[in-house]
Amino acid sequence: MGQEREQSREMNDIEEINKKAIKKWHYYALGDEPDEEGQNTIIDKEEEMYFRGDEPTEQEDEWHVELCTISPRGHLIPREIWRTLHIKYFVPLTRWGTGVMGRACEVFPHPDQWTFENSPGNKPLDQIGVNEIYRTLIARKREAPNCMKNWDRRLGIEIPWRAIGENLTRGLGTNRDTSSWFKNILHRALYLKGKGGQNTACSACHQENEDWIHLWKCPVWTPTWRVIIEDFNELLPPIQGIKRVRMSPEFIYLGLIDIEFTPHVLPIGLSLLHSILWKFMIIELYKLSQIEHYRINANEVARRALRRYTTRIRAKLRRAQIEHTRSTQQGYEHNNNLLNKKLHPVAQINADCTEIIWHPVVHRWLALAGAEEHDTIKPNFTPEW
Ligand SMILES: [Zn+2]
Repeated sequence: MGQEREQSREMNDIEEINKKAIKKWHYYALGDEPDEEGQNTIIDKEEEMYFRGDEPTEQEDEWHVELCTISPRGHLIPREIWRTLHIKYFVPLTRWGTGVMGRACEVFPHPDQWTFENSPGNKPLDQIGVNEIYRTLIARKREAPNCMKNWDRRLGIEIPWRAIGENLTRGLGTNRDTSSWFKNILHRALYLKGKGGQNTACSACHQENEDWIHLWKCPVWTPTWRVIIEDFNELLPPIQGIKRVRMSPEFIYLGLIDIEFTPHVLPIGLSLLHSILWKFMIIELYKLSQIEHYRINANEVARRALRRYTTRIRAKLRRAQIEHTRSTQQGYEHNNNLLNKKLHPVAQINADCTEIIWHPVVHRWLALAGAEEHDTIKPNFTPEW
């Protein structure tokens, strides 16, 4: 009994080995010798002459080969037609599963050399199915992206990532307002010349190495940030006598406040202004990298950002007006509670949806930037917007 079982297992093993051996047959395409320039003419996959190498003949570098046809699904089928062939005509193939991709020198990617990151077992590319792709995506979600880890490590505080995400997804802005900050700052994708530690002067101020340690306190932008911080503090009254917004990398880069207590995100309405400011700053930094002798006008950047910001909030008023009209026509109750909650403390939309009531501090900015009229404040073209 025992011996029989042993034998049958051996048989199975042999079968297994044979199957593998069949799979491991080496298939080739028939190739010309490269022409004088070393170039091969590219041949259509269906028009190639395929064969498999069987065993060497007695002649040096000459093999017995079996010619093959290619099935409509790309599989090679031996035809039991035999030839002998010199190995200089053997062109290696890249296989995809049991099919053929093409000549190894012409196709990409090679399935054995590429796989999906985090896919279980690091299977070759041609064996990856929906299951592996799904697991790859899940793994991505589970592990914090590098940018998050980098910010956590750099700032050494508890970063409220979820709240940052909610401000983005439920915020007042569109992708066009926030994606620039999101990609370049939050994801740290902004190209900084001195990031690698080499001493490369900041292209805006020429004073310090251009990197993340410097950018938030670059003197070209600090006057703008100072005004913003001072005014944000007026909009967000102090907690226990401590100002909530500080000149710090946490605020400048990520819009975080209350660093001394538990870090919080800005209210939605102010968070939008923070992203828009970055958007226009990033545009300037990009111009600076592209145009020789370009000079940044920080004041103009702030004015442009404020005008865009006003446009966004006015769009909310128009949306509310449409809703309001529809509600009177169809006879249901409409209110601006949800919207006003998002706009707080920047502005409020009145119950009739006829106007935006700006917080006086915000109204002053907008008047200085020429985005809103004001009884006493006129647009200011000197460094205070
Ligand atoms: Zn600088």
